[in-house]
Amino acid sequence: MEAALPPLTPSTLYLVATPIGNLEDITLRALRVLRECDVVAAEDTRHSGQLLKHFGITKPLLSYFQFNEARRSEEIIERLRRGEKVALVTDAGSPGISDPGERVVKAAIAAGLRVEAVPGPCALVAGLTASGLPTEVFHFVGFLPHKSGQRRNRLEALKTIAATLVFYESPYRIEKLLGELNEVYPDRDVVLARELTKKFEEFLRGKPAALLEIAAKRALKGEFVVLVAGAA
Ligand code: SAM
Repeated sequence: MEAALPPLTPSTLYLVATPIGNLEDITLRALRVLRECDVVAAEDTRHSGQLLKHFGITKPLLSYFQFNEARRSEEIIERLRRGEKVALVTDAGSPGISDPGERVVKAAIAAGLRVEAVPGPCALVAGLTASGLPTEVFHFVGFLPHKSGQRRNRLEALKTIAATLVFYESPYRIEKLLGELNEVYPDRDVVLARELTKKFEEFLRGKPAALLEIAAKRALKGEFVVLVAGAA
């Protein structure tokens, strides 16, 4: 464990993990990096502005989102080349896990610049570790495609993987996913990790058919990590 706090390194891109619901989950190091960096590149400047405000941090924010990632990446690389310390945050969790981040990381590395992760909350890890399913080997799928045929093909292709499968899913498609799991994986144990770290956090465990029954009785709202037991 290191107690000393060296100053931030110039020309470094810091990937700062932020809470996935519970604001207490921000790390001391994340706060220090956000306080001491030159600029915060955010997926959504309004959302991250609120987070900074909550922690009493005032910092210039730079919009960095999927539709202008290429142009913004260039700008971030330019700033890093000038010696700036840039903190990259996304709306929740660890930047680069099913959200923007990957492009600028690649660009920074290609430009010979330093990239550091400031680890912290990640829905995948929170969901997996509390699921009760094997954690030794897991396969992170993230979001499935939107189109039914493509989703189905992807699920079929994952059938032989001997690892816990981890999906992200939006509340609008959670029932659809349960229906698909019921068709492709009727005998597998499934865990719905809902609203992790938030007031209404819950884990629903069972075979897809049993979870579909629950969904038929009450609307499943909020954010979900869906975990499926791997092939035997
Ligand atoms: N980068 C984030 C991370 O490290 O987890 C994930 C960003 S991705 C755009 C958002 C998805 O993560 C949500 O649709 C949901 O599947 C999952 N997620 C985020 N927060 C969550 C929470 N509190 N509970 C359950 N799932 C969550």
